[in-house]
Amino acid sequence: MPVLPPLPDDPGTQPSSSLPNMIGIKRYSALQLQDLMHAWGQPTFRAQQLVQWLYAHGARSYQDMINLPAVLRGRLEHDEPLITPELLKRQVSRDGTRKYLLRLADGACVETVGIPEDNRLTVCFSTQVGCAMACTFCATGALGLTRSLAAGEMVDQLVMVAQDFDRRITNAVAMGEGEPFANYDATLAALRLMNSPHGLGIGARHLTISTCGLLEPLGRFSAEPEQFTLAVSLHSAVQTTRDKIMPTLAKQPLRDLHTALTAYKENTGRRPSLEVTLINGVTDTPTEIAALVDFGRDLHCHVNLILLNGTKETKKEKGAIAQTPTSPVRSKAIVAQLTKAGIECSIRRSRGSDIDGACGQLVGLPE
Ligand code: SAH
Repeated sequence: MPVLPPLPDDPGTQPSSSLPNMIGIKRYSALQLQDLMHAWGQPTFRAQQLVQWLYAHGARSYQDMINLPAVLRGRLEHDEPLITPELLKRQVSRDGTRKYLLRLADGACVETVGIPEDNRLTVCFSTQVGCAMACTFCATGALGLTRSLAAGEMVDQLVMVAQDFDRRITNAVAMGEGEPFANYDATLAALRLMNSPHGLGIGARHLTISTCGLLEPLGRFSAEPEQFTLAVSLHSAVQTTRDKIMPTLAKQPLRDLHTALTAYKENTGRRPSLEVTLINGVTDTPTEIAALVDFGRDLHCHVNLILLNGTKETKKEKGAIAQTPTSPVRSKAIVAQLTKAGIECSIRRSRGSDIDGACGQLVGLPE
């Protein structure tokens, strides 16, 4: 069969060899679905019909796909199982945010969050089960990585949230479990299915990747034709601090990240946003904010400040790093200081923290 399963580039994140077939049709990008249809002697528009059924309609069975020939439906059923994630748990926050625990084809579990706001419905979706980056303040980081998700497994998270809210998804952010740039091809394939008029029809600018800043994929992302939005989890512009709280990136010089972001800005004409989790005494000191100003100034970026959300990990003392959020008074002073230095910034309002659905709180473990 000429179709390559969309396995991640990163050798450390390859699913086991039996997994692609277990995932079935949800492993394919839109282009790979076209290749599959061609290989089966079908016209290109069959792939578009499939994308429509799978993601725009959220079909749960090939038998529902009434405009596909019966023979094709039979072959799909046999060769490419259609598996819908099973909803294991649904929690509703006081603020209306909903967190879902899903079980995937191979039994792996992952969380996703739906965040309603006026006329927007944003999904914070996961790109991996767990995460290999081990950031000290993040609950997902403490889990380690189980596996990367396939493209359709990411889109399915949006399909499920749209069905649950009975509303169209307007925005999606790859800010759930996982590091999207450690699963680049599948994440880009997912964004394209979300963006496609045959898929979910979400505007590219309303689709955001949040990354800890892996450099090689960041370079690739700068050359993509779509106007997807980029957010980089900087947290600290002081090398020693960043190395401590984001240990997996400890060998990556901040100046290389700065160079890559400058190239991104020049290639795409778009401004990245920088995310900074405000950790008391760690990322919020005058030295830290001065370094942030230096780092951010010529990038013309927007800085998103996130007050540290509590997790089992942050409640423990990790090495020398005490992990509590910055006080409201200090946060306001930081906003004033950044604004004065000409850096646009805002404090991200945390949503769903009462159900452990906020940034850094996703663990995806059934009880
Ligand atoms: N791996 C990606 C996306 C997942 S995290 C990334 O690093 O960007 C989404 C955002 O939540 C990131 O900015 C992350 O650093 C932040 N975050 C993680 N743990 C947090 C916590 N305990 N409190 C507040 N924000 C946190």
